Amino acid sequence: MKFCQGPKCHQYKTKDRIKGTKGNKTYQTRRRSSFYYGKSNFCSVNCTTDWLYENIEQALDHFGRTTEAKHLTQDNAWVKDYNWRSNDVGHDYYYVNGITKEQRPLTEEQYRDNNYTLNTGE
Ligand SMILES: [Zn+2]
Repeated sequence: MKFCQGPKCHQYKTKDRIKGTKGNKTYQTRRRSSFYYGKSNFCSVNCTTDWLYENIEQALDHFGRTTEAKHLTQDNAWVKDYNWRSNDVGHDYYYVNGITKEQRPLTEEQYRDNNYTLNTGE
């Protein structure tokens, strides 16, 4: 079980947040085995946004700000896609270049591997 990381989660007055013994009940931060938002750290879009607004300046200073335009070129325009096929045949995975429209086949393993890329440079 983990807590929602929203700094104001306990301020949203919903019935499911009321916890505690009789006569001593308070609105409390949500606690679940898993959450659906912010890579499973937040119970809602509101809580995700609250955290972002509190921390975004520090986060950008820490990880680095974009200070010049990035350029989409044929060297970094590869995106993964697939054609749906029935499960017994297996989907048809491929890379497609957003600039040249060239397609290259992918295995399912390559498709699911977030570190596998044809892109070079930013
Ligand atoms: Zn929350």
